[in-house]
Amino acid sequence: MTTFKNFIGGEWVEPSTGDYFENRNPADTTDLVGRFPRSGAEDVQRAVESAQRGFALWRRTPAPARGDVLRRVGDLMVRRKEEIADLMTREMGKPLNETRGDVQEGIDTAFYAATEGRRLFGHTVPSELRSKWAMSFRRPVGVCGIITPFNFPMAIPTWKMFPALLCGNACVFKPAEDVPHTGHVLVEILLEAGLPPEVIQLVHGFGETVGKSIVEHPDVPVISFTGSTETGRIVGETCGRMHKRLSLEMGGKNAQIVLDDADLDLALEGVLWGAFGTTGQRCTATSRLILQKGIHDRFLADLEKRASALRLGDGRKDGTDVGPLIHEASREKVESYVEIGQKEKADLVLGGERPSGKDLQNGHFFQPTIFAGVKAGSRLEQEEIFGPVLSVIRVDSADEAFRINNDVKYGLSSSLYTRDVNLAFRALETLDNGITYINAPTIGAEAHLPFGGVKQTGNGHREGGWEVYEFYSETKVGYLDYSGT
Ligand code: ADP
Repeated sequence: MTTFKNFIGGEWVEPSTGDYFENRNPADTTDLVGRFPRSGAEDVQRAVESAQRGFALWRRTPAPARGDVLRRVGDLMVRRKEEIADLMTREMGKPLNETRGDVQEGIDTAFYAATEGRRLFGHTVPSELRSKWAMSFRRPVGVCGIITPFNFPMAIPTWKMFPALLCGNACVFKPAEDVPHTGHVLVEILLEAGLPPEVIQLVHGFGETVGKSIVEHPDVPVISFTGSTETGRIVGETCGRMHKRLSLEMGGKNAQIVLDDADLDLALEGVLWGAFGTTGQRCTATSRLILQKGIHDRFLADLEKRASALRLGDGRKDGTDVGPLIHEASREKVESYVEIGQKEKADLVLGGERPSGKDLQNGHFFQPTIFAGVKAGSRLEQEEIFGPVLSVIRVDSADEAFRINNDVKYGLSSSLYTRDVNLAFRALETLDNGITYINAPTIGAEAHLPFGGVKQTGNGHREGGWEVYEFYSETKVGYLDYSGT
């Protein structure tokens, strides 16, 4: 069993606290992945001081050269893809096909960032005045605090750090305490690719100590956070008070709508993957299935059959469809929503319990669960569960479906299955979400597409796409007067 270190001040170091926590495999908690630093505020302080030195150096490196480092990062990730997918499944639980996809998103983000190094454009603007030149250009902002969740251990940190680094910033990175091994490997790769050591700082530990110290540090002007709504609110309050630049990405209560004219086979594949992939632990997970009355009964019966055949297990074993939940507290939260659903008189048609399989007793497994007859406005229909629980709602019309889709406090993704092209376009305009998929599930992202939600899902910033480069850079105006020449 390995004991891991922080990366602070350009070297691998032990935490100032001398204290470590254990990281265990959620599919089998007797399997100890490693011991990681339980760092404190002093480690964050040293990391920020060092990152400031790194920033002074890195901001003067030409953007295309910064892009070259990220291209090498992408190459190294390609080479280590299988190894990373395996260690990620071990510490996080989702099956290998999903962790491979997670690494691939990191690779795509690296290559996309590399090309942006040659495209970090500003504008020239015609001046109102004679003999003047006006222009805008982009400058880095400073030390960025990167705080990430457990569900996409590689993709999400890369969505944040690669554009931040490309723009010339330095990063203080705190991976989620549940997936520190993937965070460790990512930093190893950045260093091997030639990133100057003080530009990246890795501080392992917990949110209330390390995360909070980063957010509250006066010399960290940028925070990028993805995680729960409750934590996001705390982070948001602090950043507001301290006037920090903040990107917040939090919850979702995403719906897949299936209308009477839909391709039902396609819609069935979509909801199975959307609701139960990553054991429902995605901010884009399909948590509500809105079925039009004409296909409701048939679709529900088919779904029940297919979902009951999903195989739970260790994500590193062939044939596993659904892995465990990340911890015991998550499983208890899911159980509490099963109780809530029953109290609200929803109809439990599948699952609702811990599985009985002998090989599943050491992990945080929970059966794929489906409630039908869920009422719009009930807690089951409104609140984020972050587990394999799907609520089915029956509607008469597309308009009713659209209204129910919009009637929640979150607004990340939505999905509509229909063959009616006019309705599809209307949905794109009408549905209050950052992303609407037509004839595709509520999940999925591409490195060069802006990702993010409306309403209480976030604060309006986007990850990915050109938009993220605006977040990590500052517009500066240059104004030249040559009338004296
Ligand atoms: P999740 O359970 O989806 O990972 P959390 O919101 O619990 O969501 O955690 C997301 C990230 O935020 C983790 O890296 C966690 O350690 C960190 N975190 C938790 N509490 C705080 C806090 N008070 N301040 C800053 N970061 C925090």
